Amino acid sequence: MAVGAKHAAVPNKVHVKTGDNVMLISGKDKGKTGKIVAVSPDEGKIIVEGLNIVTKYIKPRQQGQSGQMVKAEGAIYSSKVQPVCPKCDKPTRVGHELKKGDKIRVCKKCGAELKY
Ligand SMILES: [Zn+2]
Repeated sequence: MAVGAKHAAVPNKVHVKTGDNVMLISGKDKGKTGKIVAVSPDEGKIIVEGLNIVTKYIKPRQQGQSGQMVKAEGAIYSSKVQPVCPKCDKPTRVGHELKKGDKIRVCKKCGAELKY
């Protein structure tokens, strides 16, 4: 890259997007699938519905109140998930193809378009 080149916008290093059906490929929920409900490209993390549930402690706001334990989805590094191909029904790597001038995402195994 040329020295002094303008800073481009922060590249989106997350290979999946909100609404994708993904499978967790490592960690305690390995093999489970869920839908992405939030993506944080800056951190490279995602939130997947029903996966990586963590218990958070909410401090009492006023004296005399007790704190609360709540369960919520914790952020997962996007590198720990793979999109699930709707045709193979398996986690897959994502390829890119041009279709009528549009870049589409395809399953590297069977070539099916990955859209949700
Ligand atoms: Zn496939």
